[in-house]
Amino acid sequence: EDINGNILGEKNENGGFRNDGDTADLAEQSLLNKLIRRSLVRNRNQVEVLQRDPTSPLYSVKTFEELRLKPELLKGVYNMGFNRPSRIQENALPMMLAQPPQNLIAQSQSGTGKTAAFSLAMLSHVNPANKWTQCLCISPTYELALQIGKVIEQMGQFYPDVKLAYAIRGNKMERGKNLQEQIVIGTPGTVLDWCTKAIETRASASIDFLPRTARCSFFSATFEDSVWNFAEKVVPDPNIIKLKREEETLDTIKQFYVLCKEKEDKFTALCNLYGSLTIAQAMIFCHTRKMAAWLTAQLTKEGHQVALLSGEMTVEQRAAVIDRFRNGKEKVLVTTNVCSRGIDVEQVSLVVNFDLPVGMDGNADNETYLHRIGRTGRFGRRGFAVNMVDSKHSMDIINQIEMHFNRRITKLDTDNVDEME
Ligand code: ADP
Repeated sequence: EDINGNILGEKNENGGFRNDGDTADLAEQSLLNKLIRRSLVRNRNQVEVLQRDPTSPLYSVKTFEELRLKPELLKGVYNMGFNRPSRIQENALPMMLAQPPQNLIAQSQSGTGKTAAFSLAMLSHVNPANKWTQCLCISPTYELALQIGKVIEQMGQFYPDVKLAYAIRGNKMERGKNLQEQIVIGTPGTVLDWCTKAIETRASASIDFLPRTARCSFFSATFEDSVWNFAEKVVPDPNIIKLKREEETLDTIKQFYVLCKEKEDKFTALCNLYGSLTIAQAMIFCHTRKMAAWLTAQLTKEGHQVALLSGEMTVEQRAAVIDRFRNGKEKVLVTTNVCSRGIDVEQVSLVVNFDLPVGMDGNADNETYLHRIGRTGRFGRRGFAVNMVDSKHSMDIINQIEMHFNRRITKLDTDNVDEME
């Protein structure tokens, strides 16, 4: 069964960019995170900086004042509630504002302040007296372009002479039109279309046509090989900034398993647990959409209020579900792994693996297990994980997981959940 979610589409209109299923998934995930996150992700890891010229001094800033921003922009930044630069911004901002121009490739997980950084950099490079395009921001998807546009608009709200245009589907460009907006944000296909018709960046546009003097920055939340290769192809002589995600651990998590016969039995066990589930917030993982839908229907029939996060929903629908859950409107969220990957819901204190995470090879998928129930240690809230075991195979999986992490998974009798206390 296909448990993948919808894929955000730019498939047909991409100019130089290819968007295979995987990258579309990543873009979707990062958008979801953006839609639901309202504050900076805390990350205490050291930022790694690789300078293009290692002999030049490395600048980092601890305050926004040190960047000597225009007062209109500083006001915008403070108005957004930012007191000081985030970890990634401490290094990225001086590089992006440096003279002569320097290029940058930066990687850090979603929510660490990348969008705010490049929005601010674009706004401070613009000369509002010049009525032509000076900054071009290319986003992998339509929805992300809108989100980024909102940040630029909010940050630039006290700088009204700077105008922003959206090169996204639906916004047609007349041939020969003189675009006056100083900043253009868009998706590859439409940007390319506009470039051939209208954008006058004083040097023509789109990535391949940019003047050599243009500074170029590339940001991503993920950096598998294909993304690196692409980044290094399009960004000449880059400085590189990386901020590793804080590692998750199982140290603060108590793990249990429950022996069940089949899915109805698992459901009964879950109902016995339900009182404890709703004390705090819980996430329940199923293997397929179908199972998630079945379980949600069963729980609802029992009168429980649960939310379902499923692959056939649009990104906006999913963001709305997660948002409600984060705000505590529902205490229990049923989902599949694909749907929830990369989404941190920090206040969840109980995770139920209604189906255990199993890889393609039939063995335990340890990494997914860790993602589902692990916490980033230093902020480590305590938590519980309950695994439903309904076959010899799933008992094997539990044993594999125990061995892999060298942590005990204790048998739980759901007729007597006091053991969890
Ligand atoms: P990313 O692009 O890496 O996903 P964002 O720039 O969207 O991260 O920032 C994530 C959240 O943190 C947003 O809500 C943003 O408003 C906020 N944020 C960004 N920079 C700062 C900062 N310096 N201080 C406080 N909050 C910030």
